Order: sequence, then structure tokens, then C-alpha cells
Amino acid sequence: MSKYPETLENIMEVLKSFSGVGSRGAERMMLAMLKWPEGKLQRLTELLQELPERVTFCPECGNIASDGEKCNVCRSLLRNSEVICVVENFPQIISLEKSALFKGVYHVLGGKIAPLDGHGADRLKIAELVERVQRHNVTEVILALSSDIEGQATAVYLAQVLQPYKVKISRLAQGLPAGSDLSYADSATIAVAISNRTAM
Ligand SMILES: [Zn+2]
Repeated sequence: MSKYPETLENIMEVLKSFSGVGSRGAERMMLAMLKWPEGKLQRLTELLQELPERVTFCPECGNIASDGEKCNVCRSLLRNSEVICVVENFPQIISLEKSALFKGVYHVLGGKIAPLDGHGADRLKIAELVERVQRHNVTEVILALSSDIEGQATAVYLAQVLQPYKVKISRLAQGLPAGSDLSYADSATIAVAISNRTAM
């Protein structure tokens, strides 16, 4: 039998789906929310309702964006669209942008090739990458993929796919710990990895 009224149990169930939030954490958050003034709860409700419509993905690169528009990077006139940095997912762009060293544009692949998990190349945005390489006369593609086996396999696969397009292909310098996620690397580490990138 549940301790709390059904609505509160349901809220805790949702909160528990966040990574790092267990039953106790969800209970504490729910009890804290009960003490919020009504206006604050109302504000949260409104923001959550807006979320699916207002927070969208850039039609050009797949980065996070607003209201169906292109992202800040793609809209900027100061960025060089002839250099594309390929990442697995958009949070890695946020890390790379913090280092403020990269002046090109990005391409979100949407994951990496993981045959053991049944994830092939077909579900990644590879055709879109090739199309951008051709459309913008891209001179360099930097592969900022994770350094685990799957990241490496994806990099090798992309290098093969891009080979016919006379584009320089490079990888971030090692220095990021093996298997580490770029999203959590500090700016200095990322800056070194970009500056010392190696040709493939
Ligand atoms: Zn974009």
C-alpha cells in the first residue's frame, strides 16, 4: 500500500526516472514541491507545457534550438561553415562551446555505431553529414567522438564514407580519458584536444 495520495506517488514515480534520483530523493523533491507557493508550481507547469513545442532541434546540425529555428551556432555569421565538428549528441556541443576555441559548425550524429546493442550506422545522421559536406564545400571534418571502441569504430566508418569528398578528416587528440564522455570534460582539456587534433 502506498504512503501518499496517488497524485504524489505518480509525481515521485516521474522524478525517479532521472538518473541519480532514487526513492528517497524523489520523496524529498516531492515534499519540497508541496511547500512551494502556488505561483512557483504554476510557473513550472507552464514551462513544462512549453517544452515540447519551444525547445526543438536545429534543422541544419541537430543542436538544441528554439521554436523550430536554426541553432545559435548555425545562425552566427562569425562561424566557418567549411569546418564541421561531428559529435554524438548535443550536450557535447555545449562543452565544446565553453572552450570557445572552435569557430566552425557542428553536426550531431545522434549516437554511435554499437553493433552489440543492435545499433548500426543506418540510424545515425550520416547521409545528412555527407549532404552538408557537399553543399558547403567543407574543407575539414573533425570527429569529436568518444574514445571507446564504439566511438573509434564510428570514426573509422565515417572516414571511409567521407573519403571520396576530398575533405581533411581529423580526430580530437587523445587526452580525454578512454571511454569518457566529452559532455563532462573541462574546457582546458577540450581546448588541448581540439588544438592537437590529428589527421586520420
Ligand atoms: Zn545548428
